[in-house]
Amino acid sequence: MVDVLALGKPLRSALSDGIVRMGRRLERLQHMLLAAVISLAMMAVLMLSPVDQFLWLVQSKVAAHDPSGDIVFVGTDRAMGDPETAHRRSELAETLHELNRRGVGKIYLDLTFESASDTKNDAALRNAITSLGPRIAVVDRLEYDVAAKARLHRTLDSIAGTSGRVLSVRNPNYLGFEWQVDHRKRVNGIDYRTFGAALGGVNPASRSRYEIDYGIDVTKIPSTEFRALTSNNSKSGNIDLAGKTVVIGRGRQLADALVAIPGQHSVPSSYVAIYAAETYKAGRTRILGSLVILLYILFGLVTTILFAGSRKHRRVAYALLVISLPLGLFMAAKVGVRVEIANACAMLLMYAVFRSRARWQQRVALIDQDTGLPTLRALGISMAREAHKGGHVVIAKVHGYEHVLQTLKVEDKASYVLRLTDRLRAADKELTIYLDGHFLGWHVDGDDTDALVDHLEGLRAIFAAPVTVRGHTVDVGITFGIARVDGAGDNLIPTAIAAAEETTEASLPIKVAETGSELDLLWDISLRARIDEAMEAGEVYCVYQPKVDITENRMIGVEALVRWHDPAKGFIAPMHFIQQCENAGRMEHLTRYVLQSACTAAKLLHFRGQPITMSVNISATLLNDMRIVGLVRNVLQATQFDPKHLMLEVTETARITDLKTAASILLELKELGTRISMDDFGVGAANFETFYELPFDEIKIDRLFISNAATSRKAHAIAASIVAMGNEARISVVAEGVEDPRDLGMLRDMGCSEVQGYALSRPISLAKLLEFNANASDDKLTGIV
Ligand code: C2E
Ligand code: CA
Ligand code: CA
Repeated sequence: MVDVLALGKPLRSALSDGIVRMGRRLERLQHMLLAAVISLAMMAVLMLSPVDQFLWLVQSKVAAHDPSGDIVFVGTDRAMGDPETAHRRSELAETLHELNRRGVGKIYLDLTFESASDTKNDAALRNAITSLGPRIAVVDRLEYDVAAKARLHRTLDSIAGTSGRVLSVRNPNYLGFEWQVDHRKRVNGIDYRTFGAALGGVNPASRSRYEIDYGIDVTKIPSTEFRALTSNNSKSGNIDLAGKTVVIGRGRQLADALVAIPGQHSVPSSYVAIYAAETYKAGRTRILGSLVILLYILFGLVTTILFAGSRKHRRVAYALLVISLPLGLFMAAKVGVRVEIANACAMLLMYAVFRSRARWQQRVALIDQDTGLPTLRALGISMAREAHKGGHVVIAKVHGYEHVLQTLKVEDKASYVLRLTDRLRAADKELTIYLDGHFLGWHVDGDDTDALVDHLEGLRAIFAAPVTVRGHTVDVGITFGIARVDGAGDNLIPTAIAAAEETTEASLPIKVAETGSELDLLWDISLRARIDEAMEAGEVYCVYQPKVDITENRMIGVEALVRWHDPAKGFIAPMHFIQQCENAGRMEHLTRYVLQSACTAAKLLHFRGQPITMSVNISATLLNDMRIVGLVRNVLQATQFDPKHLMLEVTETARITDLKTAASILLELKELGTRISMDDFGVGAANFETFYELPFDEIKIDRLFISNAATSRKAHAIAASIVAMGNEARISVVAEGVEDPRDLGMLRDMGCSEVQGYALSRPISLAKLLEFNANASDDKLTGIV
């Protein structure tokens, strides 16, 4: 693994920049994929095909072209096929002869004669058809009735004779438009060429299909009326038909023969075939389908996301992609290629929506909705932007904030916070203050840390007076954490927050984060891997601090305290890496490791004839489920250590969320034979309740009271009353953090006999402990450091 911590600072911040940028890129790619999947699904159900068809129309208009002029429509306004009007068949026969005389190239008779009329007229028509030979084809019609049942309208063989037949199929989409031409179709066992394909001269062997182009102005398709052909005085009758292909079909006056084509309400049904034929003749059958266009856009987006270095570049690339669609549509239309861009547009649109939602969320995250103050994230971003800026970041922690929020009405919360910010702006009216929960933060110019601490002390004095919000008087407790901008690296705000978290109103109201002591972003990221490695490599180990019975001057136990010596970073304080361990979800792992080392060490001490108690710290966060019980049981089994000598010290009891669950877990642990101690009694929240609810065998008075007991009456009273309470409840009481040997007498007087602290011994290594044990004599106990 690359040891990122050994790298220089610029490289490190470049690396973390890189990580952030990579995260954004991944988010973009995710949004793109989601948009692509949705548009593929839309494509599968043809949801947007009406849009594409509309766009085809637009394309047709863009590239409107003239028909070949080779196909002429001749419309009749009479119901020719009706056997009741038999004479019309003779009129048609006349017309066919007339067309023959005029030298037409080919005739398609788009009229069907399904029933015989009288012999004379039928024979006349049949003769006329036969005389045209291969120059005439009869159009049979396949129609679907309302029940979608196909019905073939077929001209009688007795009329059509042996002339060729083609098939006209009505196959409109749900908008009533006919877009596709099949080249061939099989009906009732007959393999037909379709009318449109035959008319256009499509290779008869071809089996595929193509899309019709309606780009020709309907009025430009030459047409004439049936009657005009035989009455010589009509102008339209003089149309030159030599060599032309003539389609004889039902004309405009026959309502049932009209169909809609895109852009036109009603044209004679034969026109669909004529458009199909003209499309083929003009070579406009090529199409770029949705999938191709979608892939093109996907490629464009991926390239942009991966390679566009800045927001500006990205925007330009997006704009080019967007513009390329209509532009491509236009240019493709000019060369007669149909393009389906609807799905690609939908995808771009969805991508845009996803991106703007993400950006909106980001923007919302940068402003606190109640107060309108920018959030600490915004401070982080502004600090990162102006990396050159020196000075300090200050984080003010508002104490009891949750309680205040419970007391005040929702609408008053904001004014409470704004009152606080007003006070913080006492010296600088223009100061921008950022907010996040019970933290308020800001940046201070100037590199003099001492002056800043003085200033903040002054501010604390201002906060001594309570705040009034709508008649409510609210006490304010405020403490400050400070991080030097040039010392805290990339993790400036978390560093300042961590410092603020370590402050207390009573003893440490202002804390300056030590340069380099905070773990930076990359450190956090690699911690999970690092901590396991460190345990294996023996960088993590335990030291032991004796617990002494001062009435007998005898070491009765030791507390295992974990240590980490990192080769690159040096000693890392347990407070820091335990927190990080918790974040990385490695707390159980660490606890097992410490328990194992501690039980093994204690076993050794017992073997050497020193039956001491071994205390091991258990974080309260592990008391949420039963796994800790299994963990302890396994270690006890593995080390064969007698559980009655194991004391589990529950630290940070304020973080126990569910006392009932915790109680049942602790009882299980006691079932194993271990004893339970309550660490740091007297500080943090809910200690008395916790003490009352949970089955403790020991309490440890926090060193805050012990270290001040000699000088402060209050601290003395608290310590003495805890001792009395413990004695009354028959629970051992340990005084922690005794630094001054002179305090030992006072503790003895209070009735507290169990003591831990530098006054007796600092935490020492196992080797030292064994050595110390061997030489131990009753009067030599004090001052082993
Ligand atoms: P704690 O359980 O309250 O441990 C006592 C801390 O006070 C230790 O700091 C110890 O070195 C220090 N100390 C002992 N005597 C004196 C004294 O006379 N004066 C002063 N000023 N300090 C004294 P350390 O080792 O830095 O541990 C800090 C905290 O880290 C511990 O507080 C405990 O909460 C946690 N911790 C340490 N080891 C473990 C562990 O293995 N597991 C868990 N969960 N937490 C641990
Ligand atoms: Ca402890
Ligand atoms: Ca403690």
